[in-house]
Amino acid sequence: MTVWRVPLADVEVTDDDLAAVVEVYRSGWLSMGPRTEAFEQDLSAYTGARHAIAVSSGTAALHLLLAAAGIGPGDEVVVPAMTFVATVNAVAYTGARPVFADVAGVQRPWLSAAAVEAALSPRTAAILTMAYGGHPGETDALRTLAQGRGLMLLEDAAHAIGARSGGRHLGRFGVGGAFSFFSNKNLAVGEGGALITDDDGLAERARSLRSHGMTTLTWDRHRGHAADYDVVRLGYNYRIDEPRAALASRRLARLDAENARRAGHDARYRAALTGLPGVTPTCAPPTGDGEVPAHHLFTVVLDSGGDVSLVRAQLARQGVQTSVHYPAAHRFSVYSENAPELPVTESYAARTLTLPMFSGLTHAQSDLVIECLAGALQTA
Ligand SMILES: *Cc1c(COP(=O)(O)O)cnc(C)c1O
Repeated sequence: MTVWRVPLADVEVTDDDLAAVVEVYRSGWLSMGPRTEAFEQDLSAYTGARHAIAVSSGTAALHLLLAAAGIGPGDEVVVPAMTFVATVNAVAYTGARPVFADVAGVQRPWLSAAAVEAALSPRTAAILTMAYGGHPGETDALRTLAQGRGLMLLEDAAHAIGARSGGRHLGRFGVGGAFSFFSNKNLAVGEGGALITDDDGLAERARSLRSHGMTTLTWDRHRGHAADYDVVRLGYNYRIDEPRAALASRRLARLDAENARRAGHDARYRAALTGLPGVTPTCAPPTGDGEVPAHHLFTVVLDSGGDVSLVRAQLARQGVQTSVHYPAAHRFSVYSENAPELPVTESYAARTLTLPMFSGLTHAQSDLVIECLAGALQTA
């Protein structure tokens, strides 16, 4: 196993976090219960959403969001191809057809409202956008478009916990949003996710679908609050467990501080990259009031003709881990049949490179990243 001098992502777990998790294991109740309810209340208060529903992964949150919103066979859902494949898969799980639309620009790799408008058809039921890198992008324009056309706006906010635009938390611009708590995300618990919504009916359906469509939970029966149950719809097991919910509450309490440190690293990278030939940082942070990106990723694009694999290999040799977010989803075999040409997405996918970004990144580490990148660009 490579020991990176600078890993792509890292997660800090404190002794107090460990104590909280150990306490759960000692309590004798491990599956979904009071800690999950407490975390949902914390997340609801933090985001301002009426309902927060914690689940086993970000993918489960996306699937539940779409299913509870009533998306199904015969529907089309417009999605970006510049995303993790789970965004697209979640649409396909429901039987609806994902329709790919292009991103706004090579320095603005989020869904373009104009491209979405061009991709609408009489079968379009929803737009599922993704806040790339934790940036609001064109979310507000998509909200206006969806409202004007009577469509649902749904948000894959996996990168965007803690991100706000105009003071509003991402995931609250349309019908609902989904977060991921996977190990490399801003609020990491290992595996986990949550969806938020202001819609009471959607929340009720999502809670029911999370646990087999059953009318009572094991926790209710354990507490003696219910003796039997009915099954009222075809549901899933998308429950989170108590140790992860306890860790999630602790992490949420320090999320703003950690995201602020990410913002500092972003600014430092940007300053160091200015004037470096061959490379341009993407996702310039917005300057407006109430615009707070989550800085999940720090991505750059190489000039046309630059060799991303060569640069990445050279950085790896020096102990700097990088990644590519993302290979374009519409070019994967499972989705490539009849896929449209998406010139901006394809150009971005060919030229992008993700540098290490996590709250505990040190100045020495980010200096090393820049120094190695500058060296790699000279020789690549
Ligand atoms: C991580 C991620 C997901 C999936 O989340 P999991 O918790 O890994 O299931 C979905 N969409 C995007 C954009 C992601 O980055």
